[in-house]
Amino acid sequence: MSRPLHHARLLWCAAVDRTWRRVDHRGRRCLMGKCIHCNRKITLGLDGTPGPTTTLEHIVPRTHGGTHAPENLALACARCNGQKGVRLDGRPIDDPTLQRVIRTLRTRREDRLRSPPPDWRLPPQPPDTLAEPADEDPPADGAKRRARRRRR
Ligand SMILES: [Zn+2]
Repeated sequence: MSRPLHHARLLWCAAVDRTWRRVDHRGRRCLMGKCIHCNRKITLGLDGTPGPTTTLEHIVPRTHGGTHAPENLALACARCNGQKGVRLDGRPIDDPTLQRVIRTLRTRREDRLRSPPPDWRLPPQPPDTLAEPADEDPPADGAKRRARRRRR
């Protein structure tokens, strides 16, 4: 994964998570939010460079085909992400504990969901190259209406 793409993914995760805001931290402007698991504070540079303990969490683990689709991503501290990997990634996908953790993380991510703050300078949203084909993701109603208008 190229670094700018990885940083863009991290930034977009923070942008749609209402626990993240711009702060002054140790004399530097950065982004600060909460680990999706334990709520410990984690940071990102304004360009998406991860702080010392900030990692990208795949809610459905990549070992089980979890994608880079935005709804499968969250930000987590390295300790939680590492523990989840060790404890769960080797289990079968129908393992009850793994399924419970996936459900919990999905709910938590949805509870935190917001529109990206308009004053954040975000890079283009990275493609989720491993996600479902584009035709399973119809355009929003507004986009469809605009398309119809153009055809008339
Ligand atoms: Zn954590």
